[in-house]
Amino acid sequence: MKTYRVNEIFYSLQGEGVRAGTAALFLRLAGCNLRCTQAAHGFDCDTDWRTGRPMTAAAIVQALKSASAECGWVVITGGEPGLQVDAALLAALHDAGLRLAVETNGTIALPPGLDWITVSPKVPEEQLVQRTADEVKYVMSAGMPLPRSTVRADHYLLSPAFRGGGIDAEALAWCIRLVRENPRWRLTCQYHRLWNIP
Ligand code: SF4
Repeated sequence: MKTYRVNEIFYSLQGEGVRAGTAALFLRLAGCNLRCTQAAHGFDCDTDWRTGRPMTAAAIVQALKSASAECGWVVITGGEPGLQVDAALLAALHDAGLRLAVETNGTIALPPGLDWITVSPKVPEEQLVQRTADEVKYVMSAGMPLPRSTVRADHYLLSPAFRGGGIDAEALAWCIRLVRENPRWRLTCQYHRLWNIP
């Protein structure tokens, strides 16, 4: 039976983007096709996606329902979830009554049927495969030029990078300036880091 490599399953609040603050189950899939670093991307990847254990779709559904029988949303994240999500996994999750959000770096084609797509590009936009989304979100450090995003989305978000335990003040001031000058964009934040939740 097919298995997926799962890093962790937990219940928390969505900490980023337009849906920030809403209760959400998280399915963190292992593996990523990128290696984000300060030098190349303006920040170092701080997500553990290297470890993982094999789970069937049925075992994933069971673990999600054990984490919360009430919550109706799952955020599928990684690593890069596009490496593993497929129609069979999405069908199993939908059949369990769950709505599906995904957070992707946009470099891998996603199967149809997702209910909310967040593209958070880490490479130049011409390298993106996922060209439509509900929201596009960039993590910004001070001085980074405003992305000329060509992904078709309802929301375009700038999220100031963190430094140490808090928001980088220069990155925040830079994002505020960019949003004032380019009102298509909206300021967001990695709220879960402020709220100290996973
Ligand atoms: S795409 Fe995301 S998970 Fe992958 S290396 Fe970059 S920041 Fe880390």
